Amino acid sequence: MFAINHAATALLIKRKFPAAPMIWLLICVQLMEILWVLLNYVGLERTTTEPTVKSVSDIHLIFMPYSHSIASALGLAVLAWLAVAKGLRKADAGLALGAGVVSHLILDLITHAPDIALAPGMGHPKLGLGLYGAAPTAAFVVEAVYGVFCWWIYRGGRSLLAAILIFNLGNLSMLSRAVPGPEQFLAGRPMWIVTVIAFQIAVTLTLVGVLSRRRYTHD
Ligand SMILES: [Zn+2]
Repeated sequence: MFAINHAATALLIKRKFPAAPMIWLLICVQLMEILWVLLNYVGLERTTTEPTVKSVSDIHLIFMPYSHSIASALGLAVLAWLAVAKGLRKADAGLALGAGVVSHLILDLITHAPDIALAPGMGHPKLGLGLYGAAPTAAFVVEAVYGVFCWWIYRGGRSLLAAILIFNLGNLSMLSRAVPGPEQFLAGRPMWIVTVIAFQIAVTLTLVGVLSRRRYTHD
């Protein structure tokens, strides 16, 4: 799933667990992606591209068993839960942060090509329903509707809705082979991809964090 909608997931969880600090929720929903960025930079995980990049399906997350596997997601979720629920004795916040970590795994399993291993060291099977490759237009709609759904459940303000819509629209060229966009410059440059995603993570987490302070008040 794209960065803006991972970030929007924090809104869903915050609504259910109001006591959980928003900043920690935002970090947890993107924890797997933040690790992916760091591990790509140090060379422990690897990304490749087709000779030309027309959509996200031309980008291959070929090796990411540490940041994106079932075992590492569940392990990170349990660690987050243990630290907060048992360490800090905040049971609700611990559950919320664990759910935040797992939300990333679930959303990626729905959208990604089969590139998510069961655990580090296990090459096969790799999981992923492949929505981006099989039905990119549907993926665009599903992502945008999901982002707006998170905003609606949270009862966010208009500026938060605008940010979610604008960032989803910005993903259109990444999902449509027919719509050209800046992704063509990413061909053969996997570290540029990592940097673009790192930038998107930072911007969308910040925007959702700042704009979610304002709630819809006319009900
Ligand atoms: Zn991910």
